[in-house]
Amino acid sequence: MTKATARELSVQTKLVHEGTTRSGFGETSEALYLTQGFVYETAEAAEARFKGDDPGFVYSRYGNPTVEMFEKRMCALEGAEDARAMASGMAAVTAALVCQVSAGDHVVAARALFGSCRWVVDTLLPRLGVASTLVDGTRMEEWQAAVQPNTKVFFLESPTNPTLEVIDIAAVARLADASGARLVVDNVFATPLLQKPLELGAHIVVYSATKHIDGQGRCLGGVVLSSKEWIDEHLHDYFRHTGPSLSPFNAWTLLKGLETLPLRVRQQTETAGRIAELLASKSIVKRVIYPGRPDHPQADIVAKQMSGGSTLICFELDTDKKRAFAFENALQIIQISNNLGDAKSLVTHPATTTHKNLSDEARAELGISDSTLRLSIGLEDGDDLLTDVEEALAAIG
Ligand SMILES: *Cc1c(COP(=O)(O)O)cnc(C)c1O
Repeated sequence: MTKATARELSVQTKLVHEGTTRSGFGETSEALYLTQGFVYETAEAAEARFKGDDPGFVYSRYGNPTVEMFEKRMCALEGAEDARAMASGMAAVTAALVCQVSAGDHVVAARALFGSCRWVVDTLLPRLGVASTLVDGTRMEEWQAAVQPNTKVFFLESPTNPTLEVIDIAAVARLADASGARLVVDNVFATPLLQKPLELGAHIVVYSATKHIDGQGRCLGGVVLSSKEWIDEHLHDYFRHTGPSLSPFNAWTLLKGLETLPLRVRQQTETAGRIAELLASKSIVKRVIYPGRPDHPQADIVAKQMSGGSTLICFELDTDKKRAFAFENALQIIQISNNLGDAKSLVTHPATTTHKNLSDEARAELGISDSTLRLSIGLEDGDDLLTDVEEALAAIG
């Protein structure tokens, strides 16, 4: 922080200032330390740095001043003691899972996972000798039944991709505690503003900072947040020696993204709520899944654990793949892309893109049909987006 202040500052203020360390020039904007290494005044100083007696930096794979500013700002946002920034969301998820398991351990995960997360859980972990069980994350009895004496980690994402199911994080965290396991939550869809997994009892939170944190479609990034104790014991060495570190340039971009995160997420969520309303009023739309609407399948849990809706909307057209494609093609402002959390509004057909690698049965289990579409709402004017959706629906009759 700039000057000492006794008052507890709001998140919005922290996202502008927290973690800033200024160089001798006193620059206003965060400095970009695009450097691999660091030099020492003397051999004794180098020795002290390596012994840990002097807390400075030694190599950017371990830590970097710009990256540390981003980590500190994320800690302030999340209410976490410590964090490690990574090169992508998948580097963060993989590190958070792999750093705390050994051959012979067992992981339980909710089956509605981002595609690459699912690959890590059901393909990579078993290759390393770590068994995994996938469950319907909304059913507590399935989590309970999956627990084994060697279960070390629970993993879930909520709201889920693409059907925006919401899992009771506090209930899963209680079960993890009772089972001697740690709960890792991928909080990308909720953003750090609308849901606080650590406050709900989760032990570790992971983000793809690529999404809302950058928010303008530029850089990949990720971050793992937890207690200092967990990071020291499990992540610290894994991180230093396997090298998933975030580029200082991307950290700088993400820091600037954090300054505007609350403004963006508020506006995107408000517009998404309006578009969800519009979709729900149309007879060609079979169902709309939007956290915050009273007809959301887990509306009671949304009310309990989220402080707002979502920047994403899932909906199913009462038609086939051909007309779902025609709807996408008729959109003028909303672009076709598998990304999300961008300033640009995006539409995805999960069955043929993000979820094409799943079997037909696995897709059906997740509630993804040939006419399921996912919208990620951006920063365009809300009225313009409503018109775009309205006209594209009219175009397919
Ligand atoms: C995008 C995403 C990831 C992976 O993040 P990358 O930055 O693309 O590696 C993981 N989980 C969820 C829920 C995501 O949306």
